[in-house]
Amino acid sequence: MKWIEKELELLANTSMKRSLHDSSPVSESPGYTFRGERLLLNLSSNDYLGLAQHPAIIEVMRETLLKEGVGAGASRLVTGNSPLYSRLEAALAEWQNCEAALVFANGYMANVGVIGALVGRDDVVLSDQMNHASIVDGIVLSRAEHARYRHNDMEHLRALLNKHSNKRRKLIVTDAVFSMDGDQARLQELVRIKQEYGALLMVDEAHSGGIYGMRGEGLCHELGLQNNVDIHMGTFSKSFGVYGAYICGSRMLIQWLVNKARPLIYSTALPPAIVAGISKALLLVQVEHWRRERISVASKVFRSALCTAGFQIGTGDSPIVPLIIGDNAKTLRFSEALEASGIASVAIRPPTVPDGTAQIRFTLSAAHTDRELTDAVAQIRAIGHQLGVLSL
Ligand SMILES: *Cc1c(COP(=O)(O)O)cnc(C)c1O
Repeated sequence: MKWIEKELELLANTSMKRSLHDSSPVSESPGYTFRGERLLLNLSSNDYLGLAQHPAIIEVMRETLLKEGVGAGASRLVTGNSPLYSRLEAALAEWQNCEAALVFANGYMANVGVIGALVGRDDVVLSDQMNHASIVDGIVLSRAEHARYRHNDMEHLRALLNKHSNKRRKLIVTDAVFSMDGDQARLQELVRIKQEYGALLMVDEAHSGGIYGMRGEGLCHELGLQNNVDIHMGTFSKSFGVYGAYICGSRMLIQWLVNKARPLIYSTALPPAIVAGISKALLLVQVEHWRRERISVASKVFRSALCTAGFQIGTGDSPIVPLIIGDNAKTLRFSEALEASGIASVAIRPPTVPDGTAQIRFTLSAAHTDRELTDAVAQIRAIGHQLGVLSL
């Protein structure tokens, strides 16, 4: 295994080595995290609505834990299908205004399961270059041809659709809000193109569910496109603060997935307490509008403060705010300096983002106050000057 040692050295030498750090939640302060003894403002969590510590979710999970135990004991098709699932899936279908829904253990497995169930060797998947890794892995496992189009480049997508016109099935897949850059897919155009080419359209709302739409249904609803999307996917691990994922669509689609989605069939069901927690979170996401309003204001405040300070940041209005630095080592130093000044924010480096686009990826929470965010920007600005990211 000597080669591993060499490869790890190589990663370290190019500032690409990753390692695990303890990070403990701070009860009652969802906008913070403990790193060891140090309390840091958490600008790297996906708990956008600040629900991960919600007492009502904790309570329902505790009750379910005491009644139903810690584990499901089997996959959903065997004896792991707690009745809590059918209640949750009915609520999900109602929320998304679609025929049916199916809960998966997490977003990664949902993407891998759905793509693998829908396409195979004779098919093509058209996938935005910036799509999440779980979509990429789903395509690879499906054995369909992987046609990557340049980020949000609809002309490139059309060219690839023309090139693959002989394929049996065509599936277009996109993140609704891109997980690294925080910008939006061009959903209106994707709907037009999918209709024109007779393709299926799948949208991953991992970073837009809970945040967009009147009841947090996601970006497709916000734009009034929900009926033109064939497969809606979202997670419960980000805005919902819990864990798990859903697929919404037609009754037929859901039946097909129950029969063909391997991560659903060959893996143990979520613990019942998690399913109960998701149900409660789904309710809160719909009724606690102030969380959605707050994250929207927080995103505006933070984005405009960074711009005023002179930073180049990603476009859009989402709570994902990338600060592109480029160089891996400098990005790592930036992240270390942030930690020293009380801010947790990770350096995102290749291969998560393309070479030469290493970045600090800030993510916000409804729990952050304007004051916390503008104070953070003052620190970020000072570090930007120190490291020469901002010129004087
Ligand atoms: C986080 C994420 C996933 C995976 O979801 P998990 O529930 O964390 O496994 C899938 N797609 C996108 C776009 C994501 O950001």
